[in-house]
Amino acid sequence: MEKTLVIIKPCALQRALTGEVIKRFEQKGLRLAGIKMMQLDDRILREHYAHLAERPFFQRIKDSMMITPVIVTCWEGKDAVKVVRAMTGSTNGRDAVPGTIRGDFSLSVQENIIHTSDSVETAAVELARFFSDDEIFAYNYQSLPFLYANDEI
Ligand code: UDP
Ligand code: MG
Repeated sequence: MEKTLVIIKPCALQRALTGEVIKRFEQKGLRLAGIKMMQLDDRILREHYAHLAERPFFQRIKDSMMITPVIVTCWEGKDAVKVVRAMTGSTNGRDAVPGTIRGDFSLSVQENIIHTSDSVETAAVELARFFSDDEIFAYNYQSLPFLYANDEI
């Protein structure tokens, strides 16, 4: 099934929202396939945020992502990329709809709680960037028959 990346940003760790973020994806029914704490550095952030390299705030974003370790997670489910992105909300927390993670916990465009992959193609590239193959786990998820109809999976 489809997998996607969620990075719990330093602002969320500082605000003790790690459990809340994980709880939301668990409650939705997504399967946690990988999780670890890691300290990001300039090299990986340059790669990860390459689409913003020419923006004047590039250094500010990188600094914000390195201020503490982050928690990187991999979630699996049917249409997981689309589902997680919808639960994330708009980039700017002030515009994000209440009920989304950013809409409920952020007032900022930068300090917006989580990073989530924006397409199936990006998710594959980003998961490979942050996880090695042996850090992504396949295991029997007993809830599946209660999460989906048998013709959905
Ligand atoms: N960002 C920012 N100012 C901007 C655009 C982006 O500080 O004008 C930061 C913000 O933390 C965002 C990240 O850069 O989450 C990546 O930007 P992107 O456009 O990919 O937004 P996202 O996919 O996170 O919604
Ligand atoms: Mg993005």
